[in-house]
Amino acid sequence: RKEEKALIVIFGGTGDLAQRKLYPSLFNLYKRGFLKDNFAVIGTARRPWSDDYYREIIINAVGDAEDINGQATDFASHFYYQSHNVNDTEHYATLKQLADKLDDKYQIGGNRVFYLAMSPSFFGTIAAHLKSQNLKTTTGYNRVIVEKPFGHDYESAMVLNEEIAQAFPEEEVYRIDHYLGKEMVQNIPAIRFGNNIFNALWNNRYISNIQVTLSESLGVEERGGYYDTAGALRDMIQNHTLQIVSLLTMSAPVSFTDTDIRNAKINALKSLRVYKPEEVAQNFVRGQYGPGSDKPGYRQEDMVDADSMTETFVAGKLEVNTMDMAGVPIYVRTGKRMREKATRVDVVFKQVPNNVFGEGDNTLRHDVLHIMIDPEPKLSLQLNSKTIGHSYEYDTNSLNLNYSVPAEQRANIPEAYEKLILDVLQGKASNFASSKELEYSWKFIDSVRQAWDKNIDDMIFPNYSCGSMGPKAADALLEKDGNHWEF
Ligand code: NAD
Repeated sequence: RKEEKALIVIFGGTGDLAQRKLYPSLFNLYKRGFLKDNFAVIGTARRPWSDDYYREIIINAVGDAEDINGQATDFASHFYYQSHNVNDTEHYATLKQLADKLDDKYQIGGNRVFYLAMSPSFFGTIAAHLKSQNLKTTTGYNRVIVEKPFGHDYESAMVLNEEIAQAFPEEEVYRIDHYLGKEMVQNIPAIRFGNNIFNALWNNRYISNIQVTLSESLGVEERGGYYDTAGALRDMIQNHTLQIVSLLTMSAPVSFTDTDIRNAKINALKSLRVYKPEEVAQNFVRGQYGPGSDKPGYRQEDMVDADSMTETFVAGKLEVNTMDMAGVPIYVRTGKRMREKATRVDVVFKQVPNNVFGEGDNTLRHDVLHIMIDPEPKLSLQLNSKTIGHSYEYDTNSLNLNYSVPAEQRANIPEAYEKLILDVLQGKASNFASSKELEYSWKFIDSVRQAWDKNIDDMIFPNYSCGSMGPKAADALLEKDGNHWEF
């Protein structure tokens, strides 16, 4: 296994994301030998922590406080803390000295990853300082990882892009979308382009419709302040959902390289039909959860406006107008406080053109490919087949492919972040959204948002109850096309 040499600077090193996801992911890479001797991590944030205290935090964060074999202590010895206010230019000079010293000490060779695990409002100033204060090296690579939310509309996303681009060219920018680090999301191209049975059928001649569901059972929890300014459309559809849609609808990439995959995804998103304001109500449904027996409604949550009109649920019908996908409705759905937590794709195939069995009591069903992403990765193909016995009746059966990971392991592995950080260290960009993808996805989202904002008075919220699958209108959206949600 090749060791990756890198100095990783984490802005927001005391934060929730760093402690819950980044440190455990880095530790896993260490245990697997991807990080070994020639690496160091600088954590920076405002608090005045010592290196020793920071290392204790790291050991706790990687869930190895007992540290029987000393591995966590060895790992944590590569961590350094630098108190830092991102707006203070002088602090970058101190940071540079430490970075150069560690580069030398660990013989890193000038490779640098800057992880911006902070509010995006700081991205511009951090990027500008990294460049002007010469924290970017000339002897190795420079890569910057940025977290979501990447803008709140097309314009702000492009401003953010431009600010970062002043210091880091596009090929150095890695925009994290952790759904792209999920095993079964990465499996979508493998299923589509690795099997001729799906390659041949993946078009408007054989697919009836595609359904993408990202449902959560939790409410907004402690994120009310942010969420109330964002809503489900921006928080879940613009990024995760549209990324999954692009993987499901893109044409085959010329080769499986970053550039070709990105181009294929860009073309899919560019082919999204952008709705006119008067078409939005026909194609999109929004919802907000009300109180349940033992759960507060959205408007009763902490930091949420008591008469908030923010949506916590979205269902939509998308059209990807390429030669192969035009005419295939892509239904998407996401929401909080729904019946259960699940991320899944259901690809519903058209029925055989003629039912030779005649219309009996048990009519033929659609074949459906279920791609289960969360909580349990699984692939399942629902087919019609004959029941056992003398009579000729048929039933639906499933072919299943389980990717089983013991439950206790699954809970501990922050898989998506680990995979994505390794991608960055190895310079693989295909699992990160490019600026063109952002551009097209925000244009689409803005068209919906703007129509909604104009018609806000028509909405009555809350309109779905805790533990349901969203408002009735989300079912009607499919029913008027003669379809229904598989899940
Ligand atoms: P957080 O509030 O827990 O941490 C923010 C960090 O920034 C802290 O380390 C704080 O000290 C530091 N900071 C704030 N102002 C600073 C300043 N002026 N100078 C120096 N340091 C400063 O936030 P978080 O939950 O860790 O989220 C970080 C980023 O990741 C955000 O963009 C968030 O949207 C994104 N994100 C977080 C999660 C998550 O699970 N927490 C998930 C997805 C995306």
